[in-house]
Amino acid sequence: MFNLVIFGPPGAGKGTQSEKIIEKYQLAHISTGDMFRMHISNDTELGQKVKQILADGLLVPDSVTIEMLEDEVSRNPDAKGFIFDGFPRTVPQAEALDAFLKGKGYKIDLVLQLDVNQEVITERIAERQKISGRADDDASKLIKRIDEYFSKTIHVLPYYQNQDKVVKINGIGKINDIFENISNAIDTSMA
Ligand code: ADP
Repeated sequence: MFNLVIFGPPGAGKGTQSEKIIEKYQLAHISTGDMFRMHISNDTELGQKVKQILADGLLVPDSVTIEMLEDEVSRNPDAKGFIFDGFPRTVPQAEALDAFLKGKGYKIDLVLQLDVNQEVITERIAERQKISGRADDDASKLIKRIDEYFSKTIHVLPYYQNQDKVVKINGIGKINDIFENISNAIDTSMA
């Protein structure tokens, strides 16, 4: 079992790099953002509950997010490991994840911090919105998401730094060059 968290602000490239990691290392991908969007497009009860929160660029309450995440992990008992993308986004989420994995005899092995500056984030998300049409990629909502990141999510980093699990990766450059650095970090951690 090898579990990794991919961490970074909106637009850092978590989704793009996650796809490449999954392909190479056969980990199960859990993106809480994708899961919420799926619930919204299927108009489930959970989808109805979180729709406005996502549209506003705010974080979904921890209790809701943690329950959804734990269900998804439990649904994949045969996974070789997980890549957590967009989770944990708050310290209580990180603590809940540690406790949950511990109960199963697992742990987080590595946290990849994708490092990008605010200018790059804003540019990338403006580009993405032209294709994705994601309502929360709209400029005013993006400001909210970046606020949420710097007020709540950033604190997840020292939480994992205290556990000596964080490897910082430069998130600016060619997708394949970034992935090469990620691969090296994963290989070192797995060795
Ligand atoms: P990003 O491009 O910001 O990485 P995501 O697709 O990961 O976007 O998440 C989109 C939205 O889904 C967030 O702005 C938030 O509303 C909600 N969300 C996703 N993951 C979480 C989480 N772990 N806790 C609370 N809300 C979340």
